[in-house]
Amino acid sequence: MASSETKTLKRVKRGVPEGLWQRCPGCQAAIFRKEAERRHNVCPECEFHWYVSARDRIAQVLDDGTFEPWDDSLRPTDPLDFSDKKAYRDRLQVEQQRTGLSEAAITGTGMIRARRVAFGVTDSAFIMGSMGSVVGERLTRLIERATDQQLPLIIISGSGGGARMHEGIFSLMQMAKVSAALARYDSAGGLFISVLTNPTMGGVAASFASLGDVVFAEPRALIGFAGPRTIKATIRIELPEGFQTSEFLLEHGFIDRIVPRSKLKSEIARTIDYCGK
Ligand SMILES: [Zn+2]
Repeated sequence: MASSETKTLKRVKRGVPEGLWQRCPGCQAAIFRKEAERRHNVCPECEFHWYVSARDRIAQVLDDGTFEPWDDSLRPTDPLDFSDKKAYRDRLQVEQQRTGLSEAAITGTGMIRARRVAFGVTDSAFIMGSMGSVVGERLTRLIERATDQQLPLIIISGSGGGARMHEGIFSLMQMAKVSAALARYDSAGGLFISVLTNPTMGGVAASFASLGDVVFAEPRALIGFAGPRTIKATIRIELPEGFQTSEFLLEHGFIDRIVPRSKLKSEIARTIDYCGK
């Protein structure tokens, strides 16, 4: 009797379980989490596109159970013995445990509506999705395999961090390496569809993310090189409203199309067919 009473009390006290609702950064509305998840993490009130993890991207874009990872065994090291607020090697360990990822990029092959593709995705949850040596190497090998096997190449970038400063020059070199691999892929007649998501900045925007034969972006994504404050301080002019958003970049010809998340898979398949790949 006493124990059942305690149980009832506990249940009442517990109230709404934590994490059942989440606040939308786009419209500030409280959104039922399950509803947002059902809509691929897009706000039902304002269509704001929330963060999606690399693994969820794979589930959203590739046909069920078709993804096979490549170069999963590559692991980041700490070539500079770098330390900022904490040692880089410790930071890596923490990020790996927190995200369940070994690095900020997952690459491999899979099917999109029964078309085989080479597929890569970066995850902004892992040190801002920045391009360390392993991210660059995984992407380069992905592009080289796509070249050898004549596969369409799809890379979805969610990288707010650009090059990874913890790896210094080793990180900066990845921009050139990935771009060179893409140039060879292009010469071989490959089709590269680059998908930009919120955020795509810095060395990632300045290398592979901008080099697509076709560049898609999700609505209202932040896309650019340096942040607005840095640019303003450098060139000393007022920046136009919303100049680093997908919509602004579409208007100025930097991207080819804005594709809502719910249509991304179909649009990629359609583009592959349209280009005869
Ligand atoms: Zn919203």
